[in-house]
Amino acid sequence: MVILESFREKDADFLDGRTWSLVYHLSLEHDEFLKKAHNLYFSENGLNPMVFQSLKRFEHEVVKMTANLLNGDENVVGTMTSGGTESCLLPVMAYRELARSKNRWKGKFAPEMIAPESIHVAWEKAAKYFNVKMVSIPLKHDFTVDVDILKKKINKNTIMIVASAPSYPHGVIDPIVDIGQIAWGKKIPFHVDSCLGGFFLPFLEQIGYMVPEFDFRCKGVTSISADVHKYGFGAKGASILLYKNMGFLKHQFFIHQNWPGGVFASPALLGTRPGGPIAAAWAAMNAMGNQGYQEMAKKVMGTTQKLIQGIDAIQGLKVMGKPQMSVFAYTSTNPEIDIFAIGDVMEDKGWHIDRLQRPEGLHAMVSPAHEAVADQYLKDLNDSLEFVKTHPELASRGNAAMYGMIANIPFRGLIKKQVQKMMEKMYGPDCEMPMNKTDKPSLPVRVGTRILKLLSRRKF
Ligand SMILES: *Cc1c(COP(=O)(O)O)cnc(C)c1O
Repeated sequence: MVILESFREKDADFLDGRTWSLVYHLSLEHDEFLKKAHNLYFSENGLNPMVFQSLKRFEHEVVKMTANLLNGDENVVGTMTSGGTESCLLPVMAYRELARSKNRWKGKFAPEMIAPESIHVAWEKAAKYFNVKMVSIPLKHDFTVDVDILKKKINKNTIMIVASAPSYPHGVIDPIVDIGQIAWGKKIPFHVDSCLGGFFLPFLEQIGYMVPEFDFRCKGVTSISADVHKYGFGAKGASILLYKNMGFLKHQFFIHQNWPGGVFASPALLGTRPGGPIAAAWAAMNAMGNQGYQEMAKKVMGTTQKLIQGIDAIQGLKVMGKPQMSVFAYTSTNPEIDIFAIGDVMEDKGWHIDRLQRPEGLHAMVSPAHEAVADQYLKDLNDSLEFVKTHPELASRGNAAMYGMIANIPFRGLIKKQVQKMMEKMYGPDCEMPMNKTDKPSLPVRVGTRILKLLSRRKF
């Protein structure tokens, strides 16, 4: 345990609100609660629901609760998945299979899916994995998808449309009602990626914020994803994927009847399904309850509005588009001030901030931990801007230069090649990631005694 702790040294400190993505932290008490729930089902495997009926029950109730939250009727069905990405992969596969099952292809099947340019990159992954052509639709000035162009791109190969509520980069909700109408008219499945918003927008609406309709109330919506491990404040490894009815979900199931290991049936992507995140999701939703989520949403929105107003009040910066919940991006309005240089100065001050490209910006995903640091963040942002003003050379240095180059280089294929090389290095046999280069990690011969000896000498 001491060794494990010691490895943490260089990790980001999310507890004091320094990270603006990756970790959705509510409180230490909630973390302890989740760990207990998770550990209670640490060994159980959701692969066979007949063996661990507890997990099936958790999954069923979590799916039902989420379906109600998102205004689904009694026909809505779904599964838990290991996270947002799995909840994006599966609909592409299911809708491809649904399309394939229709006998209109006359030998050639060239599936296409339609999505805004701002759609989460997991959908690109899905397109690649399942060999579906991604048709990207440009955004309007407010960073929502251009519905007129979207409509024109529909053709006989279109197997699905997907849009965001809200989008990860800019936190804006695509016109779900309008797209739903189109999808309905053309009888094309329409998925709403609400991985971010699924456990946030409903509560915003409940406490009186204006939230455009984005869920099963919208005609034409056939599926929705919502991540419990984001604003649902479950343990990592939990997302919900809902379909309007079994007619869609059934195409997601995998069944193989001839395996020597037995007839095999699996509802989602994984084989072994860890019980921990399923139990923790159930526990989180029951412990938070409607009121807990409302309070969370109120607090987080308060912080968000303070940040957005604060940033808009800084001369030279502006928030991009009209973010509708607690995720937003901002950019520089002064061509002489490089937003990535501001990002670098902020990093020097200890903040971890994601960079956006095309167009360039800095990103913020607000969580409850940020209430305490919002003022400091705004002050540091102001100071960073002033510093960059007097040090324009920063734009051509360090990370700012790198991000700037990556964002603007016309040969996108070149970037892909470079990153591919980086990945091969990072995951290659000579990876330098174990901080100690002389270390050749292999299983020690006699684990117990050696480790205990080291521990007692407190060598770490
Ligand atoms: C986070 C996110 C995803 C992917 O989820 P992971 O849990 O990171 O795999 C997909 N779509 C949206 C809108 C997201 O915010």
